[in-house]
Amino acid sequence: MSIRKRSLLKIIVIGDSGVGKTSLMNQYVHKKFTHQYKATIGADFSTKEIQIDDKLVTLQIWDTAGQERFHSLGAAFYRGADCCVLVFDVNLLRSFETLQNWHAEFLKQADPVNPESFPFVLIGNKVDVNYGRSQAVPEMTVKDWCASRGNIPYYETSAKEDYNVDHAFTSIARIALAYE
Ligand code: GDP
Ligand code: MG
Repeated sequence: MSIRKRSLLKIIVIGDSGVGKTSLMNQYVHKKFTHQYKATIGADFSTKEIQIDDKLVTLQIWDTAGQERFHSLGAAFYRGADCCVLVFDVNLLRSFETLQNWHAEFLKQADPVNPESFPFVLIGNKVDVNYGRSQAVPEMTVKDWCASRGNIPYYETSAKEDYNVDHAFTSIARIALAYE
């Protein structure tokens, strides 16, 4: 099987501060998790090369540098994205409620040619905190939200326990590749 042209896919990860965006990226790219909480300083993106079928793909995953608190991510952050990953904390209703602002902010700043068909992916992180107990954000509420926005794919993850992180990002890569 031959490897076709290399693709560079820009993936941006947004959502409220503290939901685990940086942790998800570190777990996926570096297989590392830290309990330390510090707003990422200065970091733009991390890259990871993966193979999807017969294609070598470089994921360029853009993480915020703490500016999400002020909703002040510049246009350069959003521009040219191939997929937008929205992250919330399944234990924190507020972080789910603000997603509509993030969704709208992305469409405004990135200004994709076809806003209706632009690929978003939703991640509900920190599922390890409430294993076996009911969630602060009911699954039906999440499913309805996704359905009303053109069936956004939804993944539940734990960056801490490395649960479903690889699977979610592989799906994100496939979705971005299909859009490219
Ligand atoms: P960000 O502001 O969205 O980038 O969030 P961080 O990645 O900095 O994570 C915020 C805090 O949540 C840190 O203390 C992390 O250790 C913690 N955290 C991140 N992901 C998880 C997770 O899946 N489970 C648990 N229990 N804690 C997590
Ligand atoms: Mg961060």
